[in-house]
Amino acid sequence: MLVDYHIHAAAHGEYQYTYEWLNCFVEKALSQGIHEIGFSEHDEYLDRIKPELIQQINQQHRGINVRLGLEIDFIPGRNEEIRRLISAYDFDYILGSVHFISGWGFDHPDERHFFEQKDIDEVYRDYFDLVAGAAQSRLFDVMSHLDLVKVWGHRPRSPVSNIVEPVLQGIKQEGLVIEINSSGLRKPVAEIYPAFSIIERMAAMGIAVTMGSDAHHPDQVGYELAETAQLLKRAGYRKMIKFISRQKVQVDL
Ligand SMILES: [Zn+2]
Ligand SMILES: [Zn+2]
Repeated sequence: MLVDYHIHAAAHGEYQYTYEWLNCFVEKALSQGIHEIGFSEHDEYLDRIKPELIQQINQQHRGINVRLGLEIDFIPGRNEEIRRLISAYDFDYILGSVHFISGWGFDHPDERHFFEQKDIDEVYRDYFDLVAGAAQSRLFDVMSHLDLVKVWGHRPRSPVSNIVEPVLQGIKQEGLVIEINSSGLRKPVAEIYPAFSIIERMAAMGIAVTMGSDAHHPDQVGYELAETAQLLKRAGYRKMIKFISRQKVQVDL
């Protein structure tokens, strides 16, 4: 079973949300033997989403299920606004992401240089505190790209496992799913999110997983996901999670 639950049809606003454009993503998924995909726009493009197009695609394609997700920026103090975003449509799942540390868009190429002025251990601590806060907020179904802070290759002096352990405990306690996101492999860090050692720890703890390519173009759909499934098996996983109307469904990997 292969799914790709992290797809941005509107990308960063450069593409229109049309039937024809969505269909390009679906065709690419079908060509790779993916059984289920989900469109998960960034929340700032919520007003572009047309759930009726997803319905239409589902009626026209028999070999694949298409779900509706949303990727939301977790920012402290934003909970009420996030609840409003979530209630806009009958979403199948909500991805919770941390892209900002006190207003700093650390994963944006234009803001990368700020890393040079920072203590990397502090950046990691601040980042993972936010991820822990997102998990505790009970707003999300899935925690996306768990260790995104490594995107440009910056590493802390202290072992990441120590920093991540309490975050994983919180995620386990809240019954959240962690996304295995292959996009890190095409970024300067050249590593999956989260790192394999974290995935192994997650498996030992019994934390459920799903997967996504973070595609911002049809060409990226399914990127390295067959390999990701193998990686999960190597870490000890045999099952993964699909979502329907925000209900978890366990399937074989
Ligand atoms: Zn993201
Ligand atoms: Zn994304």
